[in-house]
Amino acid sequence: MRNAREMHWMRIDRYYAGDINDPEVAVQPMNCQHCEMAPCEQVCPVAATSHDPEGLNVMVYNRVSGRATARTTAPYKVRRFNFFNYTKDLPELVQMAQNPEVTVRFRGVMEKCTYCIQRISLAKINAKNQGRTVADGEIKTACESACPAQAIVFGNINDPNSRVAQLKKNDRKYHVLEELNVRPRTSYLAKLRNPNPALVKETAVKDENHHG
Ligand code: SF4
Repeated sequence: MRNAREMHWMRIDRYYAGDINDPEVAVQPMNCQHCEMAPCEQVCPVAATSHDPEGLNVMVYNRVSGRATARTTAPYKVRRFNFFNYTKDLPELVQMAQNPEVTVRFRGVMEKCTYCIQRISLAKINAKNQGRTVADGEIKTACESACPAQAIVFGNINDPNSRVAQLKKNDRKYHVLEELNVRPRTSYLAKLRNPNPALVKETAVKDENHHG
């Protein structure tokens, strides 16, 4: 960690405001935003990261040359360089068995969130075999499935009826670092708080009385 060699695809950023002894806290999950004008794509000399036809910012792991240029140019700081050879001592068969749905990456590969492309592909194959299109909500990313607060919604932004397209119409929607014009696909909803200080005070007084 001290050498900036941590490995994760989603970071939880924390923001504090107000009184240092009793600050308001906001947390924000931050992973690859799958930008339309992705700076990481423009700088990669070997085109190891590029757009797919559906707008995902995808990685071609075996093209990665280890220069890590994307790490320094991605404005959201969501890329991690794979410094360690995690599977070095494992037999090849065991490596393949560890995660059959995802390519096992080797040292020197630049890592980031893929919007769970393996889950997207699986849903598309299932739908194709059944002669239908993928239904809204059928693809759940790993972070979406794991979030107990259901704070993450994934879907097709080209479908105006999808949950994600509807949520994007909300007045609270914003993009992080919008002024950079990298046009991220991930958007956020601003946190709502009760701004009435009298109510906050009243609750505090009630709490105090309650605790005697
Ligand atoms: S968030 Fe960073 S890594 Fe993801 S597409 Fe944008 S520039 Fe690239």
